Amino acid sequence: MPLNDAPPRAIRKVVIVGGGTAGWMSAALLSRLYRHRLDITLIESDEIGAIGVGEATIPAIKLFNRLIGVDENEFLKATKGTFKLGIEFVNWSAKGSRYIHGFGRIGQELGWLRTHQYWLKMQALGRAADLGDYSINTAAAIHNRFSPARVDMKESPLRDIAYAYHFDASLYARYLRQMSEGRGVTRLEGRIVDTSLDPHSGFVRSVRLQDGPDVEGELFIDCSGLRGLLIEQALKTGYEDWSHWLPCDRAVAAPCASVTPLTPYTRSTALDAGWQWRIPLQHRIGNGIVYSSRFMSDEDAQAQLVANLDGKLLADPRLIRFATGKRKKMWSRNVVAVGLASGFLEPLESTSIHLIQSNLLRLIALFPDTAFRQADMDLFNEQTDFDYRCTRDFIIAHYKLTARDDTPFWRFNRDMDVPQSLTRKLDLFGSAGRVFRENDELFAEESWIQVLLGQDFFPAGYDPAVDIQSEAEIAAYLENIRAVIAQCVQTMPDHGAYIARNCAAEVA
Ligand SMILES: Cc1cc2nc3c(=O)[nH]c(=O)nc-3n(C[C@H](O)[C@H](O)[C@H](O)COP(=O)(O)OP(=O)(O)OC[C@H]3O[C@@H](n4cnc5c(N)ncnc54)[C@H](O)[C@@H]3O)c2cc1C
Repeated sequence: MPLNDAPPRAIRKVVIVGGGTAGWMSAALLSRLYRHRLDITLIESDEIGAIGVGEATIPAIKLFNRLIGVDENEFLKATKGTFKLGIEFVNWSAKGSRYIHGFGRIGQELGWLRTHQYWLKMQALGRAADLGDYSINTAAAIHNRFSPARVDMKESPLRDIAYAYHFDASLYARYLRQMSEGRGVTRLEGRIVDTSLDPHSGFVRSVRLQDGPDVEGELFIDCSGLRGLLIEQALKTGYEDWSHWLPCDRAVAAPCASVTPLTPYTRSTALDAGWQWRIPLQHRIGNGIVYSSRFMSDEDAQAQLVANLDGKLLADPRLIRFATGKRKKMWSRNVVAVGLASGFLEPLESTSIHLIQSNLLRLIALFPDTAFRQADMDLFNEQTDFDYRCTRDFIIAHYKLTARDDTPFWRFNRDMDVPQSLTRKLDLFGSAGRVFRENDELFAEESWIQVLLGQDFFPAGYDPAVDIQSEAEIAAYLENIRAVIAQCVQTMPDHGAYIARNCAAEVA
């Protein structure tokens, strides 16, 4: 459906509704890639504000930063950020259990098989160390070491280090805003009170600011947060609710003072009816509990949060409500939803900022002209749908694969039916430890392997090709990987020391 009856031409005017992480990421990317060919206006309301959480990322953010032209050290100074090698999961499979989902590789293939296949055999024989000892990311995280990958060291596990960042969400938005305004993005402050649709096409024509002008646009990017001001409130796109699989529907968040050592990983600790995040930044620790209001009251969540902090509470806990799921379409007419306006998946694997990035890159790949072709929108919606579903399945696996039966919340998770797509994956892994990345699904084999085994989901067997090697050969192969990784970790700097040397933020 075209924007109007005139012959198609390039889009000129883009309006971004919302100035949280999604809004400013959109502005930074479009202003960088399209230089001055787009007239970009971003509208945000100081009175409404941004959600103010969302401080842990996954490694793909480095690609986004490269695209918008960010210098890593400058970026970490400005956002008081730290490095992240993975996520530690505590109490998930059973109380007292602990594992790390480290980014990057585990060991080194032997023949055509991944390391975990050999590990499965030797672990059953009581002859293997912890799986984490075969991952440079996990081993470094445990020892609070950090260094970027040494691409020059072709034969070393130091070449395989994969990392992401933790950063202060409000400083990140400020940083991107400065960058975007410097590239010509216009920022309007004010509350949008009305949306005007074209009576013929149903496209959004303009949005009206309280006490302000109508702002017209050709393409609208809805970054208005959970409310979905355009995609839902104006266009009534519809929402697919996934809370029967992911029953957490609230969070309470609060910062606390930093403690040493400065850990290079996010921690997620399972509680009675949810879990608690811990995100270490240079100037504070971000904390919060994600929980299900069916199984825990707001008061209990708040009390547990305050009781579980590592440092002094720095601000009053803040309550956030959400419904897990996604919009039925993330691109509808001339509106593309990005960020929380597009859907919500709990931050267990720090995926939301990545989903902002992948929606934006997909939009760039399918950028419309004024004809707004249905085929482009359909492909966009299919691919975003796939992204969300795969990510959802990965998160559900953490809950489903628990042996915990100490509370109604964990019994509910353990006993629930899961999506067919996840059942297939679990069945495949459950027989011989096999896992295959489908299309471009976000989480690669190494992530699934670490989480499934971390949740104590041990397959019945292993790939028969493992037995091509003798037990002695496998033992030597595994021991070599373990020993080399342990040696490499010793050569890596302490995470806090690395930051102090390269990207320490100014003390406020
Ligand atoms: C508890 C919790 C923890 C999270 N942790 C992580 C994490 O660790 N990692 C991760 O990747 N993601 C995380 N997320 C998700 C992450 O916070 C979001 O993806 C990210 O902050 C993007 O938010 P947003 O910009 O879409 O929305 P918001 O930050 O809510 O921004 C919405 C913007 O729209 C504006 N707006 C809304 N209505 C109007 C109006 N009527 N007029 C004008 N302006 C308007 C607001 O002023 C604001 O600027 C978490 C989310 C929650 C709820």
